[in-house]
Amino acid sequence: MFTSVNPYNQKKLKTYRPDSQTAIEQKLKQADRAFADWSALPLADRTNYLRKVGDTLTKNKQQYGELMTAEMGKTLKEAISEVEKCATTCAFYADNASAFLADKSIDTDRSDGPAHKSFIAYQPLGPVLAVMPWNFPFWQVMRFAIPGLIAGNVGLLKHASNVMGCALALEDVFRESGLPEGAFQTLLIDSKSVEGILKDKRVKAVTLTGSGPAGASVASIAGSQIKKSVLELGGSDALVVLADASLEKAAETAVKSRMQNAGQSCIAAKRFIIEKSVKKQFTDLVLHHIEQIKQGDPMASETTMGPMARTNLADDIERQSQASIAKGAKRLVGGKRDGCNVQPILLDNVKPGMAAFDEETFGPLAVLIEAKDEADAIRLANKSDFGLGSALWTQDMEKADRLARQIQAGSVFVNGLMRSDARVPFGGIKTSGFGRELSEEGMKEFVNVKTVWVEKV
Ligand code: NAP
Repeated sequence: MFTSVNPYNQKKLKTYRPDSQTAIEQKLKQADRAFADWSALPLADRTNYLRKVGDTLTKNKQQYGELMTAEMGKTLKEAISEVEKCATTCAFYADNASAFLADKSIDTDRSDGPAHKSFIAYQPLGPVLAVMPWNFPFWQVMRFAIPGLIAGNVGLLKHASNVMGCALALEDVFRESGLPEGAFQTLLIDSKSVEGILKDKRVKAVTLTGSGPAGASVASIAGSQIKKSVLELGGSDALVVLADASLEKAAETAVKSRMQNAGQSCIAAKRFIIEKSVKKQFTDLVLHHIEQIKQGDPMASETTMGPMARTNLADDIERQSQASIAKGAKRLVGGKRDGCNVQPILLDNVKPGMAAFDEETFGPLAVLIEAKDEADAIRLANKSDFGLGSALWTQDMEKADRLARQIQAGSVFVNGLMRSDARVPFGGIKTSGFGRELSEEGMKEFVNVKTVWVEKV
């Protein structure tokens, strides 16, 4: 059985019975059938369905927000804006899909290979399995599903075991919006069942958002079956603050980036790297902003930080913090804990070789790392096995352009909050994964890029 537990008070919310083998087979059959019909619809029709999905999300945002907050502890305000972001993304893809997926004409009329006309067509692959995490229970799923479905694929969701209520609500969103049965289905399965489903011939590809070990396992199964995979994995994003940065804004954004969603974001600023000459001033500002955080019941409007989603995640943060202190880091604030409620921690004097530098820290733990100068700051930023996002703070635009290119990450946000946004690609390098979500690039991950070369006879 899957059990949803409210992490704020540990109350059991609901239990869900896993799908039987017969039910799984039924859903795979349904996905296969639905793909034939769904992919044959004109693009404009699929686009209209996804506009309706946006309407459904907007209409029910309070209800979905409350469900997310209850199951994984994010504040209701954050949960509702997550639903709104999903709705905005429906509109973005509905507005842009015809341009993104339009045939691309290629000039092949040359002496070495004349053709009457040549073009590239972008066609769907089939049922795509999505293995998803609990930290943004709606957004992570929707940012795959919206472009994937508009492109003509159908979706099969295996959500994280602690948010099965959200998983079923997501299936309802598509049903309520009138999409044909089978266009998007939720599987109530555990991680062990992923292998059998991914090996099924009817499933054509997989996207996984989650930890490195989960990604390695799923990608190796996909590889053994010669199936396309996209991996969105962990990160240890650097936030580099140079001496000429606007320190007040940088500190406020750094704390927001690190602490939102109780620190459980893949693109949170996990390592603050600061040039020596401004470190003291930046530290004081960061401390000030951490002190403004109001912990409490995530349903309450005054709360700005709720609990962590599960006890074992809070255990991990405690371990990483203590292990770093044992190696010389200094705790400036935080660390009290009541169940899943962890007081935000700030560690100073963090260095490579400490857990808080080398590992992904998935909770309210901010760390200060001193850099000798600009070159040292970039060296430290890149001294990580991860390469998801990053942020760079400087008022010198020439420097920003030059250094942004030197940072080893899937994205660099200069003087702003690192975020996901439907208009720009999202994804990582190194052990943060491969492939991209969002934007035109993300939409084209799960299509057959088909060359059509036509000669006159
Ligand atoms: P997780 O334990 O890897 O779980 C993610 C999903 O994978 C869940 O549905 C989980 O199912 C499933 N899973 C776990 N092990 C599996 C395996 N061996 N085979 C198949 N499926 C498996 O990660 P999490 O703790 O839920 O999420 C936090 C991680 O996700 C962090 O590392 C974070 O950085 C990363 N993340 C990355 C992004 C990004 O876009 N790059 C976004 C958000 C989160 P069960 O729940 O049933 O175990």
